[in-house]
Amino acid sequence: MKLKIQARAKINWTLDVVGTLPNGYHDLDMLMQSVTLCDQMTMEDAPVRTLAVRSSSGMFVPADENNLVLRAAAALAERTGCERGARITLRKYIPVAAGMGGGSSDAAAALQGLNVLWGLGLGEDELEKIGLDIGADVPFCVRGGLQRARGIGERLTPVPLRKPLYLVAFQPCRGLSTKEVFTSLHEEGIRPEDRPDNEAAQRALTRGDVRGLGRSLGNVLEPVSRRLRPEIDRAIRAIEEAGAVGARMTGSGSAVFGVFMHAGACRKAAQQLQGTYPACRMMRTAERGVVIERVGE
Ligand code: ATP
Repeated sequence: MKLKIQARAKINWTLDVVGTLPNGYHDLDMLMQSVTLCDQMTMEDAPVRTLAVRSSSGMFVPADENNLVLRAAAALAERTGCERGARITLRKYIPVAAGMGGGSSDAAAALQGLNVLWGLGLGEDELEKIGLDIGADVPFCVRGGLQRARGIGERLTPVPLRKPLYLVAFQPCRGLSTKEVFTSLHEEGIRPEDRPDNEAAQRALTRGDVRGLGRSLGNVLEPVSRRLRPEIDRAIRAIEEAGAVGARMTGSGSAVFGVFMHAGACRKAAQQLQGTYPACRMMRTAERGVVIERVGE
């Protein structure tokens, strides 16, 4: 059996830090969304587990056991006692250290794909649990779509999305480490005016009120990341000037996105922004985080 898998990126419509959990981690409240931008993976039966990585635009991605794909495979094998191998290839298109969940979506794709390839028959809940040990965003990437995510991102509640939405996204500068951003947030604190209105954003998404959504986007990590990388600030303004109804940073950055009234406005803005930001891509909201296709059976 051979599988072709799309591992989709995510964006944060919102990201709020609402407290500290007993284990010291941040207690988050976010609206997370799968988008059509994706990494491409293939996997087929083999005697041992191997991974070959091809990365566009020179982004560094490890191909050894530090890659989240191999960590996911090892975790799944350990949990189930499965001793089968797999030949896995990964083509990276999601920007790295961008807050678009690149590594997490690859891990989710590995869990879902190997579950099929190895005939394990695990349910999504079980895959989410295994995924959480690999990274806080992995459970979301396993589930995909639009989710309200709380805790460290693992407490997920699905939110119905009224209609597909059109976005641009790109990384305007070097990546940012999530740890570095949270450390700076600790030092600087959160100003009340930087908090997103999660309830208003959720209502807008459910009603298909794109302008309302644009007004209620927000990310408490954005001021910190903007200071660390001033390019983020300029990129957000450029997206707004290109006609977005709202533009923000996603996750801990450094990627930014903008949402548009309709596909035509989004396409025009993407073409215009590519003049300054060649990596700018147009994308659409997606209902699933991982898409698996069986080929050559
Ligand atoms: P998130 O949005 O979940 O916080 P991110 O976009 O900030 O993720 P990633 O792109 O997932 O960050 O990568 C962060 C680091 O993880 C990279 O610098 C890289 O060394 C390592 N890594 C391990 N596996 C992968 C993978 N499959 N794809 C990308 N990076 C990976």
